[in-house]
Amino acid sequence: MPVLNLLPIKQALSMGANELSESDTPALDSELILLHCLNAHRNILFTDPNQLLSIKQQQQFIELIKRRKQGEPVAYIIGEQGFWDLTLNVSPDTLIPRPDTESLIDWVLENNLAPNHILDLGCGTGAIALALAKEFPNVQVLGVDLVESAVLLAKNNQQKNGIANAQFIQSSWFNGIANQHFDLIVSNPPYIDERDEHLSKGDVRYEPSSALIAKQQGFADLFHIAQQAPHFLNTGGCLLMEHGWQQAQGVQTELKRLGYNNVGSGQDLAGQWRFTFGFK
Ligand code: GLN
Repeated sequence: MPVLNLLPIKQALSMGANELSESDTPALDSELILLHCLNAHRNILFTDPNQLLSIKQQQQFIELIKRRKQGEPVAYIIGEQGFWDLTLNVSPDTLIPRPDTESLIDWVLENNLAPNHILDLGCGTGAIALALAKEFPNVQVLGVDLVESAVLLAKNNQQKNGIANAQFIQSSWFNGIANQHFDLIVSNPPYIDERDEHLSKGDVRYEPSSALIAKQQGFADLFHIAQQAPHFLNTGGCLLMEHGWQQAQGVQTELKRLGYNNVGSGQDLAGQWRFTFGFK
């Protein structure tokens, strides 16, 4: 058997990045995968760049870099993704939380909404629900998802992040929520059209289509939520939904048709119209 030439951290990092030249973020991918194999904090890259990997670490690193090279998302490979100031476990049963979605949290904080009760529809990993629960520690947040394994994952993430004021249940949109009213209903539902070519590229190929694709050119779930939400909103309460970069106009028109007030949209970090809101 050939003797494995054990690499120092900094050399492993650059080797990984070279292997991943087809990724948009080769250096970051290599770093995240290496830190996962080392089970170490990022500081080690600066404090101990010459430390040699162990045989086990190096074999794992090579294996995981190979998986990434084949296209698997880094978050699924390492089982974690940062969102807001949380570290969330992820699994192929749910969407990987995106930085785009953080712009919804920013909007809630910037607009000084003071909700007493929050609902997150289609919570997935629990990203939105947990970020809001952390920002509003005196507010009860309910997260629901159709997929049982997503509900379990969200509960697990709640525990992992030590958040007390959230609850997660299995429900198809509003179906499992009888007689409850909220001041803020937020959702990142599926909104991609099934013919969108973006579905055959990059990380989304590995994500569950139930979290990505919706009928009616991607509008079906956005419109269903918009139609039902007034039954579950307190007067003055807000509906806030993420959507695709070309869907703001369509969602605004529907919210206005349904009688929502002060309808508007907001942008993500890339400057795309990423979410739309309206008040009851
Ligand atoms: N924003 C994601 C994407 O385009 C999709 C998220 C969603 O459908 N809710 O990759």
